[in-house]
Amino acid sequence: MKLNILLIEDNIVDSFLVDEQLNAACPNKYVIKSASSLRQGLEFLDSGNFDIVLTDLGLPDASGLKAVTSIQDHDPSIPIVVLSGNENEKLALQIVQMGAQDYLIKGQGDGHLINRSIGYAIERKNHEKQLVYLANYDSLTGLANRGLFRDRLDRALIRASRNKTLVALFLIDLDKFKLVNDTLGHDAGDELLIQVARRFESCTRKGDTIARLGGDEFTIITEDIKNLKDTTTIAEKLSSAMSEPVCLSFHEINVNASIGISIYPSDGLKPNDLVKYADIAMYYSKNHGRNCYHFFSEDMMPVQSEKQSVEEKPATKKPAVKLAK
Ligand code: GH3
Ligand code: MG
Repeated sequence: MKLNILLIEDNIVDSFLVDEQLNAACPNKYVIKSASSLRQGLEFLDSGNFDIVLTDLGLPDASGLKAVTSIQDHDPSIPIVVLSGNENEKLALQIVQMGAQDYLIKGQGDGHLINRSIGYAIERKNHEKQLVYLANYDSLTGLANRGLFRDRLDRALIRASRNKTLVALFLIDLDKFKLVNDTLGHDAGDELLIQVARRFESCTRKGDTIARLGGDEFTIITEDIKNLKDTTTIAEKLSSAMSEPVCLSFHEINVNASIGISIYPSDGLKPNDLVKYADIAMYYSKNHGRNCYHFFSEDMMPVQSEKQSVEEKPATKKPAVKLAK
């Protein structure tokens, strides 16, 4: 299969030379589309399916590092090789540190060198993508992991504050999940976790974040909510998605979950508080029959708060004070 190159180069002679050198070194390996400015390059990037960008640094509408940063901002997943007439090692290092995969000096080397650089650049970018994936996603279910969840929650709250909308945070823990591991084995437990993740995906919107926090604990951030009734609808949807039996390889089993929900901004403004309150509400569901959902409310707090206050201030011998929300 041919590789698609986007070549951003305003000098028509240089552009032609790259085309010619690559074709001579590797006939029929590449399809090259040329853009003569950064703006045009970014437009092509939107419309085409490119494997790599080769870009000059001295473009009419972007000079130096700006070309690289603009391409990266536009499409963080595309590998970039810089072609420059400027033999400047410091600049080359800076460009690679900023995320371009390689740096070539125009007129030095031939099509084989460009071809090799393209191959390495694509490999490096793939490796980088794998590392980013491992750092942000749960390897079992493919859902966001705890780190990415926190990042998404921070961003969701900023957007909600700007747009004056609500965010609902659902914390979900499967009921008696250990029993599945103990009776059917760990692999069956894993399969169940994967299927539960797919179910959550099927009953949420595309922009919502579903994360696995660890073990059998999941969380969902739902944004752009206009009123509380919508939140109840989502909770009902999640509950009914869980009510269907799950088909594992050799077994069909019923799985239930306890759900706790906190709402921004009425329950709290800070991400940590919302997570804490959703957790309290989830434990409330666990302690009130499981297989149900509860919205956080202040009445769920007191016992725990008094205990915490005493635990947190043992040395002062002051009377315990309820933690204000
Ligand atoms: P509860 O109803 O109170 O929630 O109890 P539970 O049996 O669901 O157990 P709990 O939520 O306290 O703990 C989750 C268990 O999930 C603990 C651990 O044995 C198991 N677990 C954690 N990670 C994995 C995993 O990656 N795969 C599998 N199969 N099991 C896991
Ligand atoms: Mg559980």
